[in-house]
Amino acid sequence: MADYAKIKQELDGIAVEDNPALVRQKSRDFYWYSPILKAELDNVTADLVVSPKSEEEVIRTLKVAFAHGVPVTPRGAGTGNYGQAMPLSGGIVLNLINMNKVKEIHPGRVICEPGIIIAELDKQTKAHSGQELRFHPSTAQTATIGGFIAGGSGGVGSIHWGGLRDLGNILRLRVVTMEAEPRVLELTAWDLQKVSHAYGTNGIITEVEMPLAPAYDWVDVLVGYDDFMDAVRFSDVLAHKNGLLLKEIAPIAAPIPYDYFPRHKPFIRHRGQSIVVVMVAPHSIDAFTALTERMKGEILYRSDKVESMKGIPHAYELAWNHTTLRALKVDPTFTYLQVQYPSPDHVAKVGKMVEIFGDEVPGHLEFIKFDGNMQCAGLPLVRYTTKERLEEIIKIHEDHGCPIFNPHRYTLEEGGMKQTDEVQLAFKKETDPQGLLNPGKMIAWENPSFDFKAGKNYLFPGLQAFA
Ligand code: FAD
Repeated sequence: MADYAKIKQELDGIAVEDNPALVRQKSRDFYWYSPILKAELDNVTADLVVSPKSEEEVIRTLKVAFAHGVPVTPRGAGTGNYGQAMPLSGGIVLNLINMNKVKEIHPGRVICEPGIIIAELDKQTKAHSGQELRFHPSTAQTATIGGFIAGGSGGVGSIHWGGLRDLGNILRLRVVTMEAEPRVLELTAWDLQKVSHAYGTNGIITEVEMPLAPAYDWVDVLVGYDDFMDAVRFSDVLAHKNGLLLKEIAPIAAPIPYDYFPRHKPFIRHRGQSIVVVMVAPHSIDAFTALTERMKGEILYRSDKVESMKGIPHAYELAWNHTTLRALKVDPTFTYLQVQYPSPDHVAKVGKMVEIFGDEVPGHLEFIKFDGNMQCAGLPLVRYTTKERLEEIIKIHEDHGCPIFNPHRYTLEEGGMKQTDEVQLAFKKETDPQGLLNPGKMIAWENPSFDFKAGKNYLFPGLQAFA
């Protein structure tokens, strides 16, 4: 057992919390979305929470932790869904929320600290020069930019820009290593991809440089269809209209909208109505409306037409993993999956899954640009019964050519998004030789005979090809 009294002393001047209830609170994320992770991780807690205010304080903390052989698990706002920010081996939770300054804003890019809340970052770049992040998670109001880069994948805006996996969607990361004398690395291009979606297993991000896009007063629209597949076909046509500027297209199957979106329920005509959540640039709204009419969609709601938006959340807070959250709030037996429906026959694949599972797996899709093509990812809800049935549902998807990024696993590899390979492993050896950063999250590190190549389709592919 480490000598935490001594560690606290050595961290004098840096904010440290050791109250067990508060430490436990900061040792959680949204792992409970998964009944499987809930059972596995419920007892996880750290020993200390350290909240640095500067890169210098991060370096001091890592130096002390390294000297004592204490694990360090970074944390942004703890909104990750797979236990990413949960300290499996105890030790220190490094809470980065106080490193929240915007340092520079330029045409097309912003430089900031990792702990800034994404919506606040957008607010500042918009006020400065009418710019905003290219895309953000639906948790923009609560999540940090550092946590998004280290634990997220894509979100609102991915319809246009793709995801964090795509070269150019992160410009530069400044990262502190976990060594006796921590070093500061400046990473760009392929190199920074070692750190993106790596759950903080190979360095602490202390500064980020992100590309920006022009900001618009996006109009939230809900379009209704009585048949979910009509909503999907409309979404696909819409997604392929190159001239329309959109930030979000998410078809969501009945009865989810009526049953679980209370603030929007007054706009939804009946329980059998599926919806498409869309965000449209103001100058595209006329063309969008014309297309919707032609495709027999019913415009149920427009944020620029309601008398008051008081109490009505942003439409993107109905989409991405907010769909799941809203259902879970009402019915805790729900869980979800993350599915890829590869193009070009993504619509047919969705149709097949709807036909097989019906209301056991109510549909929810996100249209995104993937390697230059339009396709859809799914975050369908699952009416959970048993672990075995969940595994069966996963297998049926995969057997039909719909890969699953399993949100019921806390390791990088089993989650299926990040492929660890020799390059990733060599970087970890260099930046964290004692394996003290977020231990337990990277199988390739824990098990040197792990076969990286046995894996399947990964969202963030291995880096070997680029070494
Ligand atoms: P945390 O959960 O605190 O951390 C995430 C990971 O990053 C952890 O492994 C942590 O150790 C590591 N980390 C944090 N900060 C640093 C740092 N400075 N240096 C190194 N490692 C670090 N995700 C999406 O991608 N898209 C979505 O649209 C989306 N929607 C969501 C909706 C809901 C309702 C919920 C609950 C989650 C959603 N998520 C989504 C997941 C999550 O909210 C986002 O990925 C979010 O950006 C994570 O940010 P955070 O600050 O909460 O990170």
